[in-house]
Amino acid sequence: MTALIVGKVNIVGGGIAGLLAAVELARGGAQVTVFEAAGGLGGRARTRQADGYSLNQGPHALYLGGAFRRELKRLGIPFSGGRALASSRKAIWKGKLHELPFNSKALLRTGLFGIGDKIRYVALLKTIVKGVTAEGSFAHWLDAQKLSPVMRSSLEALGRLSGYANGPQFMSAQAILDQIRMALGGTLYLDGGWSTLVDGLANAARESGAMLHAGARVEQVIVEGRRSRVMLADGSAHEADATILAMGPNEAAALAPQVASLQVEAREAMPVKANALDLALKRLPDGAQEFALGIDGPFYFSLHSGSAKLAPEGGAVVHVAKYLPTGTGPERNAIEELESVADLVMPGWRALEVKRQELRGMVVSNGLPRWDRARPSVTLADAPGLFIAGDWVGDEGMIADTAAASAMKAAEAVGQWLAIAGVARAA
Ligand SMILES: Cc1cc2nc3c(=O)[nH]c(=O)nc-3n(C[C@H](O)[C@H](O)[C@H](O)COP(=O)(O)OP(=O)(O)OC[C@H]3O[C@@H](n4cnc5c(N)ncnc54)[C@H](O)[C@@H]3O)c2cc1C
Repeated sequence: MTALIVGKVNIVGGGIAGLLAAVELARGGAQVTVFEAAGGLGGRARTRQADGYSLNQGPHALYLGGAFRRELKRLGIPFSGGRALASSRKAIWKGKLHELPFNSKALLRTGLFGIGDKIRYVALLKTIVKGVTAEGSFAHWLDAQKLSPVMRSSLEALGRLSGYANGPQFMSAQAILDQIRMALGGTLYLDGGWSTLVDGLANAARESGAMLHAGARVEQVIVEGRRSRVMLADGSAHEADATILAMGPNEAAALAPQVASLQVEAREAMPVKANALDLALKRLPDGAQEFALGIDGPFYFSLHSGSAKLAPEGGAVVHVAKYLPTGTGPERNAIEELESVADLVMPGWRALEVKRQELRGMVVSNGLPRWDRARPSVTLADAPGLFIAGDWVGDEGMIADTAAASAMKAAEAVGQWLAIAGVARAA
């Protein structure tokens, strides 16, 4: 953003979308105020720090080729970490561990596929890496490949791992194949967890003059002519030339019930949910695996402290998760199920547990990229001056990359809106 932005901007929501937009707009010259309902900034990117352990809210990896990393780099936000490169990676199939075919050596060794499937798997991955054009749902694309049951399940698992979503019949084939291609390019686990990104963004926003208020719940947003006003739970009102709602679609729709397009988006958005068991261990038990992916069940297991500084010397941080099928919520035995995955992959862990965090039906993303409907853009035709950002907005990427890309597009749209307002004022 090069031209100077003149005007006041309210941003509701202090997650990474709200913070990225705040940095961009404040650096551009706008007077920015962020209102965050929770006691701290960061939303789902917050990390729980305790006794030298850093526990993200479920497993979090930064995609090397994604929009979030691109924008962090462009804005000069510091972070460090290690590539998610476990030396041993397993597939869970019929209750047993097999080699996960993540490279040619593992593919040769794995008992998961017969020789015909091994050749087909390599060919399919090559096609995906080159870039595929696909229409319809991911399930439809998989049907068309006419795969053996284990190959189909393996590709579904790769889709779940890459896009964090378990809804092949709803998900756009193009979006998930692009996401798999990007994920194969590598991901980073971050030293100190994703809170380091939140802190870096908050510092950058403050240094540029933005006001960041945590514990400030907005109850209503009113758009009047060219101005908008946010009403806080404490009774105060804050007027601005533009407002960005950087939160989920249901929360945004509830704040502005008069905006019909937001009500439609809230109804149509398909949230992606997961259960997670985040474990801080005294040490990794002998014989534990570092990574495992469910092939016939939607499970994930990974030692994050193997690549990033997340635990004190000798300690370990492990994330176990279940990708919930689209449209379903957590089962009664959500945590027991994850514990038994941990029993299979790292027997002996229970005696070494120091701390845990249990997440049931956590929203990973507010908007699955559907094959039959585009996600909304950052501008709302029926509410000029009101903008949206988050992991359900815009056509770029998935999860945090969508949040980051939409935040930047919202900041750009606000800049254009304020430029037009400036011209109108001057005339
Ligand atoms: C288990 C799990 C694993 C994940 N793993 C990954 C991963 O590996 N890679 C990846 O890229 N992404 C991952 N994500 C997704 C990523 O965390 C989110 O996409 C991202 O943090 C969303 O940021 P956001 O700012 O859009 O939304 P949020 O973080 O939800 O922020 C919205 C903020 O708005 C605030 N708010 C809501 N209503 C109000 C109100 N009325 N007034 C004021 N404030 C309000 C909320 O308190 C919240 O802080 C994962 C998410 C989860 C849950």
